[in-house]
Amino acid sequence: MRDPECIFCKIIAGEIPSNTIYEDEAFKVILDLAPAAKGHALILPKEHYADIYEIDEEVAGRAMKLAKKLAIHMTKVLGCDGFNILQNNREVAGQTVFHFHMHLIPRYKAAKNNDILVWNHETFSAEEMAEIRDALKCD
Ligand code: AMP
Ligand code: ZN
Repeated sequence: MRDPECIFCKIIAGEIPSNTIYEDEAFKVILDLAPAAKGHALILPKEHYADIYEIDEEVAGRAMKLAKKLAIHMTKVLGCDGFNILQNNREVAGQTVFHFHMHLIPRYKAAKNNDILVWNHETFSAEEMAEIRDALKCD
């Protein structure tokens, strides 16, 4: 399934060029056009799923396996010092392309913009934390 309006579906179909570093029958991995760091890449499932809520469970599992393989490979090739795997869902969470993707972001001790993933902390009382814990408990 593809979405005719989706830029990642167009990249997957080869209608828009990309710097592809890996491809198999289910995934394409491309370099991000606006990289947060050298080697920043995106894992794209070839099927169109908007986000984590929609993606098939099996495909999600395979995407994470691929992330592990690429983290090892990219770290070896790039000589980076660490690695972020990031996945945004919906606009409020920073998603701008609504085709599920995982960011692979190599991190370098020597980089100038090493605060790219810093967030402010919120504070909750012990009672609030207990309420949140109880509301979220699941099997
Ligand atoms: P997100 O904000 O998580 O939805 O990430 C979307 C990412 O896609 C951003 O980091 C963009 O830089 C990247 N992006 C958008 N268009 C393209 C493109 N044509 N080729 C490669 N990366 C792209
Ligand atoms: Zn798509």
